[in-house]
Amino acid sequence: MPKTIPLNSFNSASKPQISWQQQLAQAAITPQTLLKTLGLDPNEFGSFLGAHKQFSLKVPQAYLHKIQLDTPDDPLLLQIMTQSQELLPADGYNTDPVGDIDSSQTPGLLHKYHGRVLLITTAACAIHCRYCFRRHFPYQQQQAARDDWQDALEYIKQDSSIEEVILSGGDPLVLSDGKLDSLISQLETIPHLSRLRIHSRLPVVLPDRITDNLVNRLSSSRFNVCLVIHANHANEITKAEVKVLRKLQYAGIHLLNQAVLLKGINHRLSDQIALSNALYSAGVLPYYLHLLDPVQGAAHFEVDEIEASKLISGMRSKLPGFLVPRLVREIAGEDSKTPANEL
Ligand SMILES: *Cc1c(COP(=O)(O)O)cnc(C)c1O
Ligand code: SF4
Repeated sequence: MPKTIPLNSFNSASKPQISWQQQLAQAAITPQTLLKTLGLDPNEFGSFLGAHKQFSLKVPQAYLHKIQLDTPDDPLLLQIMTQSQELLPADGYNTDPVGDIDSSQTPGLLHKYHGRVLLITTAACAIHCRYCFRRHFPYQQQQAARDDWQDALEYIKQDSSIEEVILSGGDPLVLSDGKLDSLISQLETIPHLSRLRIHSRLPVVLPDRITDNLVNRLSSSRFNVCLVIHANHANEITKAEVKVLRKLQYAGIHLLNQAVLLKGINHRLSDQIALSNALYSAGVLPYYLHLLDPVQGAAHFEVDEIEASKLISGMRSKLPGFLVPRLVREIAGEDSKTPANEL
């Protein structure tokens, strides 16, 4: 077993536990504190402060404790640690890599694909992933929640070709149970909607967020509910995550995973095989493996397409077909995600 920091006493089996909201409030930390906690030398990370100012460091205890001590190249650490490479300009990398701003129909509603719309329910996330394609997203102008979703709901009501609403963000599960309930209830009154999808990283970042209340609300919805989680590495899935994911699965929620292919984090065949197996043990099927969106500050994570296609062939020769994710790229203006082999 690799050594990790022990969970703070408030997170351990000893009661009382602190609420997920309190855990969330404590998630913003400085790079220096993070490195000190993990027994690492700041010199190994170059000038990380500039990157912290551009997009701050944020990681809850529950995730932090899955990072191995004294391991500068830990695959979970690399996803969250501010690094000087983020400040280097790179050709073709920009601040809105997938054309989100152009496809926004009303504030906070993206309608790019037939039959489904995506709602930016909140700007907040429980964790800041350094490769995030929305790291420069103008959330201030694009947050549906500010207007109680009225414009977005109106838009959906007017278009009966929309069957599915995707709650995204930020991370929709940072919203309170009350807010989510209110939004879902309003959506349930729109007759042409049949599917509700939630895109959230919280099941693997802050598993305590998956409260019984939330599970009950989702399972009692008239919608066919799908939760797409976001895990990039098998080490993100430990007992605590398996427990909440199983709970969701038993409540009838479909569980899928989307991951981003990231150099140094999950680009090896062994990483991907371990991830698919860990997901399946938790009742989750791999859905998409995204080629990195060219967002400014993330170029050092890029895996080229040929290497990525080889990786998928490698997975196909080792795993059942249902454990092989679809390798896709998001191209602005296309009417779906684009499979990598068609590029
Ligand atoms: C990725 C995405 C979706 C979902 O696409 P699926 O192929 O259905 O998973 C929907 N809307 C937007 C705006 C997206 O970016
Ligand atoms: S959780 Fe998702 S939206 Fe939030 S920073 Fe990570 S990748 Fe971006």
